[in-house]
Amino acid sequence: MLNYIRKHQTATKAGLASVTGLTFMAIKKILEELEGLGLIRCEESDPKKPGGVGRRAVSYALNEGCRYTLGVHINKFVTSVGLMDLSGNVLYKRRRPMQQDLESQSSFVEQVLEDVAAVIAQAGADRGKILGIGVGVPGPVDTESGTVLTPPNIPVLRYLPLKEILEQRTGLPVYVQKDTNVIAFGEYWCGPSEDVCDLTYIDVDMGIGSGMVIGGMINEGANGMAGEFGHITIDPDGPLCNCGNRGCLEAMSSGIAVLREMERQLEQNASHPLYERRRELALEDIFCMVEKKDLLTISILNRSAFYMGVAVSNLINILDPQIIVLGGILIQRYPRYYSIVKDVAASRRLKGARETRMELSLLGENAGMVGAGEVVADHFFNEMVNEVFSKNGS
Ligand SMILES: [Zn+2]
Repeated sequence: MLNYIRKHQTATKAGLASVTGLTFMAIKKILEELEGLGLIRCEESDPKKPGGVGRRAVSYALNEGCRYTLGVHINKFVTSVGLMDLSGNVLYKRRRPMQQDLESQSSFVEQVLEDVAAVIAQAGADRGKILGIGVGVPGPVDTESGTVLTPPNIPVLRYLPLKEILEQRTGLPVYVQKDTNVIAFGEYWCGPSEDVCDLTYIDVDMGIGSGMVIGGMINEGANGMAGEFGHITIDPDGPLCNCGNRGCLEAMSSGIAVLREMERQLEQNASHPLYERRRELALEDIFCMVEKKDLLTISILNRSAFYMGVAVSNLINILDPQIIVLGGILIQRYPRYYSIVKDVAASRRLKGARETRMELSLLGENAGMVGAGEVVADHFFNEMVNEVFSKNGS
């Protein structure tokens, strides 16, 4: 019942009865208990208001300010730390650019701890109401011990036992997950998907990754490898990928792939305005050329989007998720990328199959931080609340 209210923001007794199959009496008793614990609140709509139904409609909503979560999202370029309420509303956040010359793990950890303390202080949150810290970090990750393993793009984090250190230093429970998994979880709880329980998130950024929520739970896979979408093979003879294989989706469709292809093409194109900068290209140069309607740049981006569309159609054939959410810098900055992916995936679907629902990420840069907080909230709702209920003999 709590998860239903959490997902739908508000619920009526009738709504809860129909989804749970419980009697009105049972629903009433549980709602009273949840209200007694301060977890939900009762809202009465004014029947005289426009749209009122002529009688008082009673609904139940999460008492979102009764507890808080902390979310930390670490990526190659920036670390975001935020304090959220139980509905995933960001109360205060800090974003810190990743120092590329960061030498030691301890200085990185000190920065995270400093930001955690600052966010709690700035939000003026009661420390006793903070449930824990969720962390999203580039994979692979050992989620059980909460250790970062060997992220290819942030070598300084190798084998960092984040959970152990953060728990020791803050006294709060810490949950560590792969970054794309927490983004997917953020989109699942706080994105455009109120009525779904299966969601796949695809991150089209400098690298490519994905996260899958199945039946409301993060799908980590048996060895934490689920969702390594960037490393499915699109062309066995294609360009070399950072993982050592050839023709991975990441080597064909990511920001890195776009920059490499641009550099390769510029070598034979001395009259192009980016020729002089060809060895030091950044994605900003690419987006700048798109604005100038440069055909070479646009064709490289469109090709990259085409391969992504092919990969997404493969994903649909295996998983058939209720919704696919796309985010990441290429999606945000080059709107045509998304429409090409959608068109290509739709055109390759099996005859007679319905078109898979796709959406753009609305949470943007906050998705990972909010999702990391939702991992904490999820532990609270599914474990701690159950403990209280079983102690009460309900
Ligand atoms: Zn690869």
